[in-house]
Amino acid sequence: MDRLLQKLKKRGHDLVSLPYKKIEFTKNEESDNLLNDLERYPHAFVIGCLMDRQIRANRAWLIPYKIKKILNGFKIQDLYQLKLSDVREIFKKNAFHRLNEDMAKIFYLAIEKIQHKYNGNASEIWENNPSSATIVRKFLEFHGSGPKISTMAANTLYRDFKIPMKDCYSIDISPDRHVDRVFKRIGFAHKNDKRETIIYIARDLNPKYPGIFDLSCYEIGANWCKPKNPICGNCYLFQLCPRHI
Ligand code: SF4
Repeated sequence: MDRLLQKLKKRGHDLVSLPYKKIEFTKNEESDNLLNDLERYPHAFVIGCLMDRQIRANRAWLIPYKIKKILNGFKIQDLYQLKLSDVREIFKKNAFHRLNEDMAKIFYLAIEKIQHKYNGNASEIWENNPSSATIVRKFLEFHGSGPKISTMAANTLYRDFKIPMKDCYSIDISPDRHVDRVFKRIGFAHKNDKRETIIYIARDLNPKYPGIFDLSCYEIGANWCKPKNPICGNCYLFQLCPRHI
């Protein structure tokens, strides 16, 4: 168990240590360029995070790009000119999301908050080496953002965008179906454990950075630890895993 834990933690640290590489949120080049452009369009990343619920992730993350195409731009000053009724119409007409009414409001209020609270510059959310708790709290303040979205946003900023932070104590794991399955099969969680329980198991295992397991378990789940017929022989945990399948 201890060796397995060390191995997963090492993979998590290795992922954090890699140099920044363009993140493939959607696998659409122009869309990913927009989402990765934290210099000019930091609000695109924030909006992408807020849209990422109840539909497939790549469909949700495409929304900022689709809006950019419709409006012929994605400057915060231009987005701020939109009325809620305009945003509603865009969402409904283009069927961006399963929850178009709700997501239009989330979009509209997010732009308003970025304009008023962050002077139109969303990167103020993560500037000046904040603590992880500050970043998670700032994302929680957006309408429609719960702990899952907020910790996912903080983890993406730290691990993938390499944004400096004072600490990682508040970056929890965001258990999706892959993380849930892997945690149970490797024996970190019991088969009946809820996803909320998994968050606390990760905190217990690595209090300084509970979200360290997020991407490594996602990788294992997506590549080898499939729901049916896991490819254990190819998995780097094979020698250590109790394989509770
Ligand atoms: S060894 Fe098999 S059961 Fe264990 S994590 Fe890897 S794929 Fe899953």
